Amino acid sequence: MSRLTGKAAIITGAARGIGKAFAQAYIREGAYVAIADIDLDRAKQTAAELGDKAIAVHCDVTSQTSIDAAVEATIAAFGQIDILINNAAIFSAAPIVEIERSDYTRVFDINVSGTLFMMQAVARHMIARGKGGKIINMASQAGRRGEPLVAVYCATKAAVISLTQSAGQNLIQHGINVNAIAPGVVDGEHWEAVDAFFAKYENKALGQKKKEVGESVPYGRMGVAEDLTGMAIFLASAEADYIVAQTYNVDGGQWMS
Ligand code: NAD
Repeated sequence: MSRLTGKAAIITGAARGIGKAFAQAYIREGAYVAIADIDLDRAKQTAAELGDKAIAVHCDVTSQTSIDAAVEATIAAFGQIDILINNAAIFSAAPIVEIERSDYTRVFDINVSGTLFMMQAVARHMIARGKGGKIINMASQAGRRGEPLVAVYCATKAAVISLTQSAGQNLIQHGINVNAIAPGVVDGEHWEAVDAFFAKYENKALGQKKKEVGESVPYGRMGVAEDLTGMAIFLASAEADYIVAQTYNVDGGQWMS
């Protein structure tokens, strides 16, 4: 079954991790995908792995010039953009008394401003084209509730949920559906840094935090990127036309725990 045949997508932060899995899944469903990442070498490597329906474009979501260039390059390659996934984000953790203003600003710039101004750039194209589109923002369980050592990241993801509600209600008049996915913990390369952080602040051995978190998931294990692809395909498909401004948990039951 190919639910995205002929559609063109741009996915930020798709050089690795969850974004890469989304790109892979979209291509399997018949879409063309721009792997838009600040790490152009890795994006090129990923695009080469994914085959001739993928292209790599440089995109730093903190720079308006870079956002505009990435959107233009995607339109030049595919003729259109039907789907945007705002997936690029960075994690950050520190006790409240140690949060640095520069870190706060950088995390908000990537996770929140990046999401907003990518939505704006792509929505302008979609409105001008007049054929609607789908925008999917990556939120997190961290945006549903605060966590003691993760204040800044949690606040950015709460902001992403809020932006999704506002943009969703504002853009549906143009046939653009904006929704979000809120994963729980998902295994991936970023866990190296997360583990190192908790080793420092909670006196844990490397790998211990990851093990504990995995065991706490009602489903019985930590998520993997592929657990999220079904929702990303559904929200980008015509089956989701009447779904507006929602954030869906895909978290193995963590929100209930
Ligand atoms: P990751 O760290 O593995 O990948 C992030 C990608 O974003 C990288 O390829 C990186 O180069 C790119 N990137 C960083 N800064 C950028 C910038 N300024 N402009 C463009 N690209 C940039 O992340 P992941 O674990 O795959 O997470 C993907 C998304 O899912 C993020 O929005 C994250 O917050 C969210 N999420 C992840 C988890 C998890 O446990 N992994 C849980 C909930 C939500």
